[in-house]
Amino acid sequence: MNTAYTCARVSLRAITKNLGVIRKRLGRSGRAGAAVMAVVKSDAYGHGMVPVSVALEEAGIDALGVAFVHEGVQLRDAGIRVPIYILSGVQHGEEGAVIDKGLSPLLCSREQFKALNRAAEKRRTRIDVHVKIDTGMGRLGFVYDEAELLAGSLACYSNVRVTGVATHLSDAAGSAYYTGLQIRRFEGARRSLESSLSRRLTAHVANTVALFSYPASHFDMVRPGIGLYGYGGKGLSPAMSVFSHLISVKTLRKGTWVSYGRTHRLKRDTRVGVIPMGYADGYSRMLSNRGFVGIKGKKVYSIGMVTMNHIMVDINDVDAHVGDGVLVIGEDRDMRIGADEIASRGSTISYEILCGMGLNVRRVYD
Ligand SMILES: *Cc1c(COP(=O)(O)O)cnc(C)c1O
Repeated sequence: MNTAYTCARVSLRAITKNLGVIRKRLGRSGRAGAAVMAVVKSDAYGHGMVPVSVALEEAGIDALGVAFVHEGVQLRDAGIRVPIYILSGVQHGEEGAVIDKGLSPLLCSREQFKALNRAAEKRRTRIDVHVKIDTGMGRLGFVYDEAELLAGSLACYSNVRVTGVATHLSDAAGSAYYTGLQIRRFEGARRSLESSLSRRLTAHVANTVALFSYPASHFDMVRPGIGLYGYGGKGLSPAMSVFSHLISVKTLRKGTWVSYGRTHRLKRDTRVGVIPMGYADGYSRMLSNRGFVGIKGKKVYSIGMVTMNHIMVDINDVDAHVGDGVLVIGEDRDMRIGADEIASRGSTISYEILCGMGLNVRRVYD
């Protein structure tokens, strides 16, 4: 394997193993029958949407979830056959693609119902959709107290059949009170829709954190994203490792300023290493003067601002040379660096770190 520059190694086996952990977790709360929709939006959080989806399909995933229609189209074109849910609704002009590619949208507004109904009518077909309810996220979907009104008017859309209902939790990692409130609002909306349609709907609410912490959020299907990639629950294995290497080592004299904006001045003569990874390669500029990496099993800290394609590290305490490997995320010797650990130092979350690295550095699979 040519590991020149920086590269992200993705373990598809870790992802399917995490799916197993998630299924076991559902089983423990008596919900073994709940379906799993694997969320693979944003290029599977930087892990590669198509290879990850193929591996999950082989592992028996029930459904996939993406944010946008173009992602669903890309999956169908890659030969994926399981149901593909479009979590963020259908934008004007995408209705034909949704129908022709057999995608399953979560509809978020009456306009979307109208436009999709018209497109289905024109094709003399009927399409199954889920309704997205906004129970307190303040983002997409029908506000929960409009559900009854919506339920009463669904008959107008005779070429669109509602088969499911969903909501998204905004604070499952924070407030049990607010999460409970969202779940109650969801149940109310679901009851209105079900009683007006006189049939059961597929209900789904839980993201990864809710899946692990709130059995009451499991319903008929769960929607883990980050958990599949190894974060956000117990017993999960991170699927992405990121490695780089030193491309320059030199000793700079005490008093030298390092990087743009002169934010770091050397307090002593210092061996400074350069790593070919900057904010354009997914190493957030928020990590300026705060990041760390592993070299030969030792933690070394970044100094100065993160630049577009490079960071500088203080390697006084490690016998390192040009060409030596650098651990950015993952495990090496006794050292483990988690995306969540880096994220907290850069005032962000593991999601953003993984998406950034995965999308911008070369990926290899094992
Ligand atoms: C991204 C997303 C998920 C997955 O959330 P995780 O926290 O990554 O598990 C689930 N549902 C919706 C609607 C989403 O947008």
